[in-house]
Amino acid sequence: MATCLFCRIIAGEIPSKKVYEDAELFAFEDIHPQAPTHVLVVPRQHLATLNDLDASHDALVGAMVRRGAAIAAERGHAAGGFRTVLNCNADAGQTVFHIHLHVLGGRSLGWPPG
Ligand code: 5GP
Ligand code: ZN
Repeated sequence: MATCLFCRIIAGEIPSKKVYEDAELFAFEDIHPQAPTHVLVVPRQHLATLNDLDASHDALVGAMVRRGAAIAAERGHAAGGFRTVLNCNADAGQTVFHIHLHVLGGRSLGWPPG
């Protein structure tokens, strides 16, 4: 999608600090990190929100979550803990409408979220 920020990052039209890529996923450092580790894992496929998912996306979403856990583990957060977040639409604070898994780690994270 030509106007989508994350599609443009995946395409290399906008620079990012790449963390991982494969045939279906791309991961990069969040530009405004909220923790020592703050990585975004996104599908190459443009999907605006979680409301656009159906059963055909189950494997893709599973791969996103497993990749997020792998990135957290690579950075030493597996035992201590980390958080994954998928925001959907306005009440959750979604600002970029291409689904993305936040991977946050490296500090103690409060709960419940704001
Ligand atoms: P959301 O609020 O939609 O769940 O998260 C969007 C995330 O994208 C935010 O954490 C924000 O800092 C990040 N972000 C927004 N624009 C850019 C950008 O141009 N590059 C990178 N790397 N991250 C971005
Ligand atoms: Zn997109």
